[in-house]
Amino acid sequence: MDKQNQKEPGTLYITATPIGNLEDITLRALRILKEVDLIAAEDTRHTRKLLTHFEITTPLISYYREKERERSKQLVERLLGGESIALVSDAGTPGISDPGAVLVNHAREAGIVIVPLPGASALSSALSVSGITESQFLFLGFAPSKKSQRKSLLTSLKDAPHSLIFYESPRRIQGLLADILQILGDRNAFWARELTKSYEDLQSGTINDLLELASEKKNRGEFVLIVHPGERIEAEGENVLELLVWYRDNTSLSLKDVSKKLATDLGLSRSAVYQEALVIYKKKSE
Ligand code: SAM
Repeated sequence: MDKQNQKEPGTLYITATPIGNLEDITLRALRILKEVDLIAAEDTRHTRKLLTHFEITTPLISYYREKERERSKQLVERLLGGESIALVSDAGTPGISDPGAVLVNHAREAGIVIVPLPGASALSSALSVSGITESQFLFLGFAPSKKSQRKSLLTSLKDAPHSLIFYESPRRIQGLLADILQILGDRNAFWARELTKSYEDLQSGTINDLLELASEKKNRGEFVLIVHPGERIEAEGENVLELLVWYRDNTSLSLKDVSKKLATDLGLSRSAVYQEALVIYKKKSE
């Protein structure tokens, strides 16, 4: 093809769709879904229902986890050939515990313009009504389905000073809560169940309270679970060296995390605290 006939590459739109209530789609998403040449969807049957509701007739192609690599190549070819494509998942924002990242990376490597179309996500919706006051949180997505892996993940999070946020399905919520109870203790927690749907349910209580609720049949559905940080023990020490010794002996935080924390808490340079920490931690292992 000579240069004059070459088409400009198309744009890739990463498009959020509702997590339950069909009104939660943006005007921009509706316009782009109509205008693009192709919609790549996690489950074409599911997305067709959404498109039919809004009288959108754009062609669909499937794009799901098991085929991400292969399909990404085809989609990038089409983008390079001038077609614009919207990527959607079954619910919420693609790429958040959903397929999308592989296509985004391939498209970026190929120089394609990538545009996010923000909208619904179970994560931000749950956080917005959780009332947690900390500005920092750890989003874990789905905890591993294997019990041993789930337990080792939870063990590694024992001393995390942040709220922990999990996605969970109705089948596994009880197992997750039981493991949290055993490993992290009976912490305060919050769940957002069936957000934006008719049985939307927001509950706060201890893990034990939620475990009891989860055993009731009526409490089925999709969950976002937020677990508050554990009780914080006041660190003891008059200066950075004493504090480093205290953290070394009383927590399982890594040397790097302790240095970062102390540098922030005390307003010191991170590299200076890190150098001191190297000495203190080395002493213990000698
Ligand atoms: N990409 C989606 C997003 O942006 O939220 C998440 C997709 S992930 C495969 C599905 C999980 O998200 C569910 O198992 C549940 O944990 C959470 N979720 C999705 N819709 C929800 C809803 N309406 N209420 C509560 N949680 C929901």
